[in-house]
Amino acid sequence: MSNERGRERYDAIVLGAGGAGLMCAAVAGQRGRRVLVIDHSGEAGKKILISGGGRCNFTNLGAGPDNYLSANPHFATSALRRYTPADFLALVDRHDIAWHEKKLGQLFCDGSARQIVAMLLEECAKGGVATQLGRTIRSVDHVDGRFRVALGDREVEAPALVVATGGPSIPKLGATGFAYDLARRFGLKVVEPRPALVPLTLGGEETLFRTLSGVAAEVIARCGAGAFREAALFTHKGLSGPAILQVSSYWRRGEPVAIDFLPSAPDGVLAAAKRARPRIRFGALLASLLPARLAETLAERLGLAGDLGNLPDRRLAEAERALRDWRFTPNGTEGFAKAEVTAGGIATAGLSSRTMEAAAVPGLYAIGEAVDVTGWLGGYNFQWAWASGWAAGQAL
Ligand SMILES: Cc1cc2nc3c(=O)[nH]c(=O)nc-3n(C[C@H](O)[C@H](O)[C@H](O)COP(=O)(O)OP(=O)(O)OC[C@H]3O[C@@H](n4cnc5c(N)ncnc54)[C@H](O)[C@@H]3O)c2cc1C
Repeated sequence: MSNERGRERYDAIVLGAGGAGLMCAAVAGQRGRRVLVIDHSGEAGKKILISGGGRCNFTNLGAGPDNYLSANPHFATSALRRYTPADFLALVDRHDIAWHEKKLGQLFCDGSARQIVAMLLEECAKGGVATQLGRTIRSVDHVDGRFRVALGDREVEAPALVVATGGPSIPKLGATGFAYDLARRFGLKVVEPRPALVPLTLGGEETLFRTLSGVAAEVIARCGAGAFREAALFTHKGLSGPAILQVSSYWRRGEPVAIDFLPSAPDGVLAAAKRARPRIRFGALLASLLPARLAETLAERLGLAGDLGNLPDRRLAEAERALRDWRFTPNGTEGFAKAEVTAGGIATAGLSSRTMEAAAVPGLYAIGEAVDVTGWLGGYNFQWAWASGWAAGQAL
């Protein structure tokens, strides 16, 4: 429908055809709203397509507010309660998409992430949602309570505008900081965005670990309020693997990360080994608990050699303490180019946790990764995209 000036009118315009934007548009469209979704990428849901190694870890059965970081840890509660992993799973089942649980409640498609994008586009089509893909947004204005968006040579307008353009992680997929610029223009605050779920880099004294490139071990990694028992992987730049990606979201420059290299061993394991096997060498004992190259490096760092029987109990107790709380200070991260998500974003203080609408700008909504809500690794980020998209879609 066009108004007298040739501007097309909608009830709501959604900026961003990612998981959050598509969910929001489908829900609002099926509630009878005339919705337009705009994306500068020529393809919808690009991050969904590459997610979970191409199989999309589309939710986590245990997703709850405790699995998210935000300046306001309670903000996500309402949306997550109202649209749950079971709700998304029911949608997946209605579309006959086969899935499996990999571990720790993480649900993946058996086939392809493409099925999730196709499902969302079908849901949008059911709601009569219009899409404009591959279109550059030239400007966004707010005039007389209506939002006007200029696209190439046309203008569209609506009383509601949903910002769903995500965060700047993986710019080569078309990710930008557009949401933050727009939010600031409308007077909303932005919590400093930073790369999260990202490999950590090591420099200076820590470079010894870089010689372990390719070695993986199960550890407990700790940083700030985060503690994760999963695999850590040594890389030629530093450390990666799920345990490290998880703590990277909690890491701030200058802070140490602590690693427990002996998560499965009982307390006092070294002293007990001394009594049971006094002739075994310290390095050989460590190699029975850890990958050989890692054991060798750690034994060298601890400066312990020779038979266990000849090492004083005190030195073994110190060594065990060090192995359970090995501290290192990353010199950085691999940045937005390698970050699975962006932590920080549009401050939740200015948004309604029920509808995602900006208190100071009626009709303006922000959802998904653009908002200062960041999930753990394991399907939590998509669950936030669905839940926040659903909440806004119900309110439009
Ligand atoms: C490699 C990788 C794997 C991942 N795997 C998983 C996983 O398995 N499970 C999980 O839960 N999470 C995963 N994530 C995180 C998850 O993809 C995101 O949290 C989620 O996609 C966020 O959804 P969104 O809709 O808010 O933003 P996005 O999916 O980023 O969508 C934003 C959309 O806005 C568009 N856009 C951006 N700027 C502009 C602009 N200026 N003009 C117009 N359009 C614009 C983009 O093209 C994009 O289509 C992964 C992320 C990456 C990078």
